[in-house]
Amino acid sequence: MLYPIELQVHADFLVIPRPIGKGCPLPLTLYAPADLLQNGTFGERFIGHLSSKTELILEILHFPHPILRHPAKPIRRVDENLRAAIRRMFELMYEHSGVGLAAPQVGIPLRFFVANETGSPHEGTQRVFINPVISQAKGVEEEEEGCLSIPSIRGRVKRNKTLFVRAFDLQGNEIAEPVGGFMARIIQHETDHLDGILFLDRLTENSRLALEERLSDFVADFEARQRTGSLPNDPQIAESIREWESRYC
Ligand SMILES: [Zn+2]
Repeated sequence: MLYPIELQVHADFLVIPRPIGKGCPLPLTLYAPADLLQNGTFGERFIGHLSSKTELILEILHFPHPILRHPAKPIRRVDENLRAAIRRMFELMYEHSGVGLAAPQVGIPLRFFVANETGSPHEGTQRVFINPVISQAKGVEEEEEGCLSIPSIRGRVKRNKTLFVRAFDLQGNEIAEPVGGFMARIIQHETDHLDGILFLDRLTENSRLALEERLSDFVADFEARQRTGSLPNDPQIAESIREWESRYC
């Protein structure tokens, strides 16, 4: 099921997606002048209070951070804070030569990811997929994959060759398109992240066993960082997840 989202956009207009009819809800975009909104006609629910100058510090989290295993929840609303997070995610993705980055990888337990199949800020198209749903997945193809949350580890992963994706973009427009090629692989890899699945889970048993030692180094590093306090402990991570969910879900 495709979840609708509410958007807080620019100060001069507002987009309110609404469900239409039965089945899959689709967004209906309503525009209202800012002064009408400020007079309270639509109420605070849609305007909210944009926290001014909120500095959001994001970094790419590595395996075995527990948020990478937490199923992300659909987003109900998008605000400036989330837009800032998305801008930062693109920066991080390019800095680390990635082609996709899912919200849980930067500690956000929500269903969205960013992608640019060229991996370059100067080429291709920057895309944001909010609340993505994959259907009509067909064909199988095996290729090598890596993941920004498991740096330097690569493995061959079977993915469907083509699929149909439905989602929303950052402007609240519905995305509904057939996808093939490299982009189909990216969409499957990133949507897996939203379900708490890593490409490691899709390796053959032998490939996975061959990586055990290197993965145990990631575990040791993570545990050491938690012990020294450079990463939050498990209860703090759980509290952060609850905060994100209460604000956006
Ligand atoms: Zn990944």
